[in-house]
Amino acid sequence: MTKETFTFQAEVSKLLDIVAHSLYSHKEIFLRELISNASDACDKLRYEALTNAGLTDGDSDYQISLTVDAKAKTLTVSDNGIGMARGELSETLGTIARSGTQAFMDQLAAANEKKKKAKNGDSRVDLIGQFGVGFYSAFMVSDRIEVITRKAGDEAASSWVSEGDGEFTIDEATRETRGTDVILHLKKQEKEFLEEPRLQNIVKTYSDHIGIPIVLMPIKKDDVERTLNTASALWTREKKDITPDQYKEFYHHAAHAFDDPWLTMHNRIEGVLSYTNLLFIPSAQPMDLFNPDRKTNVKLYVKRVFITDDCEGLLPSYLRFVKGIVDSEDLPLNISREMFQHNPALAKIKKALTKRILGELKKKAEKAPEEYKTFWDVFGLVLKEGLYEDYENQEKLLEIVRFKSTRNDALISLKDYVERMQPGQDVIYYITGEDAAQTALSPQLEGFKAKDVEVLLLTDPVDEFWVTSIGAFEEKQFKSATRGGADLSSVGKDGDDNNKDDAKKDDEKKAATVDPLLASFKLALGERVKDVRASERLTDSPVCLVADEGDMDIHLVRLLKQHKQLQQDTPRVLEINADHALIKALNGIASKSEGPNTTIEDAAWLLFDQARIVEGEKVEDPSAFVRRMASVMEKGLPVA
Ligand code: ADP
Ligand code: MG
Repeated sequence: MTKETFTFQAEVSKLLDIVAHSLYSHKEIFLRELISNASDACDKLRYEALTNAGLTDGDSDYQISLTVDAKAKTLTVSDNGIGMARGELSETLGTIARSGTQAFMDQLAAANEKKKKAKNGDSRVDLIGQFGVGFYSAFMVSDRIEVITRKAGDEAASSWVSEGDGEFTIDEATRETRGTDVILHLKKQEKEFLEEPRLQNIVKTYSDHIGIPIVLMPIKKDDVERTLNTASALWTREKKDITPDQYKEFYHHAAHAFDDPWLTMHNRIEGVLSYTNLLFIPSAQPMDLFNPDRKTNVKLYVKRVFITDDCEGLLPSYLRFVKGIVDSEDLPLNISREMFQHNPALAKIKKALTKRILGELKKKAEKAPEEYKTFWDVFGLVLKEGLYEDYENQEKLLEIVRFKSTRNDALISLKDYVERMQPGQDVIYYITGEDAAQTALSPQLEGFKAKDVEVLLLTDPVDEFWVTSIGAFEEKQFKSATRGGADLSSVGKDGDDNNKDDAKKDDEKKAATVDPLLASFKLALGERVKDVRASERLTDSPVCLVADEGDMDIHLVRLLKQHKQLQQDTPRVLEINADHALIKALNGIASKSEGPNTTIEDAAWLLFDQARIVEGEKVEDPSAFVRRMASVMEKGLPVA
């Protein structure tokens, strides 16, 4: 086969256009990207060779080399890794393969919008550093790139050449051994990348953590070959010998991320089970956090050999925001990737890692609440999935979950909540909704406010699921504030049983006085409500809707309906405020009239619709609502 010409995928062309013309100030990161690819290629071969030793052809000393040709103004990055077959080239170096680059493109579109508006500076440039653009970043410094590559096990080699202008060609080539050369024809103004000190410095800064030697070939006559990096996998080194920057660069490499790690956990465990973990919690939300597959993101190594970055059994899904590596000494090297998932040692590592991560989070939560808040705001909603998925660690999770509440703006723990419970209160009240500020204004909370009873504001969809399955915290049950039977009568008083009974009697007396209105409302609304009752929880509003005890929570019903998992509304209970002037007046009319009364009927429907509106729902029958409203207004106005 001879020379073929291809055009880049449209997104790549767009990307190249930006990369080639960018004024990004850290252009040297192209070297980090090429070295990272070379290192990945060596990792891949090392793994393949476990089951197919012939692939290495006797050469298992993996190495990355940098070669400078000052005359030709080229810098070449070579490796003896797995290489690429001709058939793979147009896919790997012609499309956008990885999600990080895709994320870059998405952000780019957003930044372009902003740029149009702002007109000051180009926010697109920073994105290159934030996301890294992989192989294509080399076009920041080159006006032509040649790749010569030969796949391990193949005889033939291929070349890939492009000037980054929309096209690339693939052709036959020769290469003595397996591996890849990436030859950069540097732009005129980028000569600095031909100089030893500069290259040395870049490798130290960005790639020192790479586990295989990065060797600089002699540039001048008397030079000798020099290894530029420490050349041992970062996690195998002593903690005290690793700088924060080195950890950070390793995180960038291992996680394909470009933010700063919020937390770094580096531990070497020796005993029945021996392994090393180097794990990170990011500070920014990764792009794939809400993918439906909920995949975890920790790479598995066995005795320094990379095995897989798709290891289900290593961490539970609700810890999928954790990135990094685990290197086991116990797992057998010669089994397939699939078999690892079922190895009992892996289950033990998972258990230990989960415990360690939750322990570290607890430490932060208690000792550095401000820092913990920044974590919680980004990953709290994912962590809460564990409350119903990981029964074994439920108690630990309950200690580190944080909430907004009606009391103040700061996040609180369940322990805080229980400590501030009112005398006589024996359950943890919560309300669910979409938005904390808005939910806090729900009429159902009026009575709680009046009695100074704190209510947790749960505003993540996942809350609906754990809160109903959780049981209790420190023997206190969770109870929805929007549910019937939220018994507030005894709360805030001494809470002994006599007082409880007195308070109940008071409320019952009050309720009895509005009996006539309750009966007429029930008659008017019929099947649309489950019941009409006098409320203990209202102080300012005339009415509100609540779910009956044992029924699904109002917000959950709405959520399920939105997701088409529920067709029908569950009828709710309309609660009325016996102390409200409007209710008193209506009750007066109801107790005097015999049989149906249109004023009462209109009022029943108008108040029912009002209660729905406050819940953020639609009025069911807008024309009837409008007609009733007009009629009531008419009655209220002096006759013209
Ligand atoms: P990523 O490394 O995130 O996949 P890149 O743009 O850096 O994205 O690289 C694209 C793909 O090109 C890699 O996934 C790999 O398949 C291939 N590739 C790049 N460099 C090499 C190399 N030195 N050896 C083998 N394959 C490579
Ligand atoms: Mg890469």
